[in-house]
Amino acid sequence: MENSLTVYNSKSRKKEVFEPIHEGRVGMYVCGPTVYSEVHLGNVRTFVSFDVIYRYLLYLGYKVRYVRNITDVGHLTDRGEDKVSARAKLEQLEPMELVQKYSNMFHEMMSIFNTKSPSVEPRATGHLIEQIEMVKDIMKNGYAYEKNGSVYFDTLKFNDNYKSYGKLSGRKIDELFSETRDDLKNQDEKKHPSDFAIWMKASDEHIMKWNSPWSVGFPGWHLECSVMSTKYLGKTFDIHGGGNDLKFPHHENEIAQNVGCTGVEPAKYWLHTNMLLMNGKKMSKSDGNTISPYELFSGDSPHVSKGYSPMVVKFFMLQSHYRSTMDLTDNALQAAEKGYSKLMDAAKALDKMEHPGKGNDTDANKKLLASVNGIIADMDDDFNTPKALAGIFELVNFINKLKAGHIRYSDITFDTFDKLKSTFIKFVYDIFGLKDEAGGVKDNNSIDGVVQLLITIRNEARANKDWSTSDLIRDKLMELGIQLKDGKEGTSWSKI
Ligand code: AMP
Ligand code: ZN
Repeated sequence: MENSLTVYNSKSRKKEVFEPIHEGRVGMYVCGPTVYSEVHLGNVRTFVSFDVIYRYLLYLGYKVRYVRNITDVGHLTDRGEDKVSARAKLEQLEPMELVQKYSNMFHEMMSIFNTKSPSVEPRATGHLIEQIEMVKDIMKNGYAYEKNGSVYFDTLKFNDNYKSYGKLSGRKIDELFSETRDDLKNQDEKKHPSDFAIWMKASDEHIMKWNSPWSVGFPGWHLECSVMSTKYLGKTFDIHGGGNDLKFPHHENEIAQNVGCTGVEPAKYWLHTNMLLMNGKKMSKSDGNTISPYELFSGDSPHVSKGYSPMVVKFFMLQSHYRSTMDLTDNALQAAEKGYSKLMDAAKALDKMEHPGKGNDTDANKKLLASVNGIIADMDDDFNTPKALAGIFELVNFINKLKAGHIRYSDITFDTFDKLKSTFIKFVYDIFGLKDEAGGVKDNNSIDGVVQLLITIRNEARANKDWSTSDLIRDKLMELGIQLKDGKEGTSWSKI
């Protein structure tokens, strides 16, 4: 098995050779979305990054179990209300109806961006029993205490024993004030401000609550990931990922809970993605510096001059390393559109090319082989997609020269050509997860891209019970000779 892969471990703050706990197998857990509203582009950036990581591990030949959860309880608003039930009230839906609606929309968005489904996608509300068991175990080990029906994790006692609280995020316990707002109301119940709730007693108005030995209440937000990661991947597993905004308090507290329960750290490697910016500033709803994926696709936003297809946006995302911030600008998207189109043209041209056999090991051959191997080395270096993409463009130039006859087949060996073809195709489609679609591609596939986009917008309208928009899309497409068919597997289309 390959082990030239190195990954940057946030825990040690350095690159380490990747050695999975069990030869040939990888367990990876990524913190998934909180499904109380539409997924935003920042979330997409994180999930696309981990999709590429997942795909590259598969390419290396690992058998990967990829677990990505859905948070549907325990994430509280500033006022201590559950985000899911607060939004459900607003939309006049049952909390679980709301969860279903936004989970569906999240899955749709993941499929628009052509990401692979995780192997397991557990929900927090489906693992209440296990969460209560973990609270009991932590209490049994002496690292949690009950106060008025709520249970708090005893960070001081834990740190006395393990000296590790705050290590991941680089914080010192003495300086720590609980930055989590989950339990702001109950600060006086805690022994120390950095203690955090692992079980919370619910007020009468609170809707999402369950029976427990301590009170009718609900789990702290960090508990679900401690429970679901280890339930499906074992006490210790290989990779734990998420956005770097989750390092503290979420991941720090996850580690404390797992160690407090089992005595061992849950993950060997911690991988964190960096944040998405727009025009150099943090993308944030409060100051209007935000754009939704659909606005980006349609161009219906003051931040862009036109719409960009999902694959162009994805191509743009691959141009930044997952640990760097990514700055979304109209100019950068325009450049990405050109780049994506050039890449797809080269992929199609290469597909049709055949090497007649033999050929010579010339300087051009050596250079080409070095470029092909360089791409693999770039991905082995902590999944460096921008460098690998630059390497792919060296190959694009080569393909174009071969097509134009500036380089001849006899200048390269059959084996090198074969390696070029297989590596190029694997990287573009299997590892980067790009596909041929609308937006800069000038062939029949653009129709499919446009219709898929309309299907997505129609699905969104249907989810919002906006029947007039959904009927309008279906009827207008029918007038254009395109029939939509709704089936179990989703909506498909055909020409009539
Ligand atoms: P949430 O739905 O807020 O729980 O977040 C889901 C995932 O998206 C987490 O891994 C977050 O760290 C990540 N995330 C949230 N905001 C951003 C952002 N602006 N850029 C990149 N990742 C983000
Ligand atoms: Zn999590």
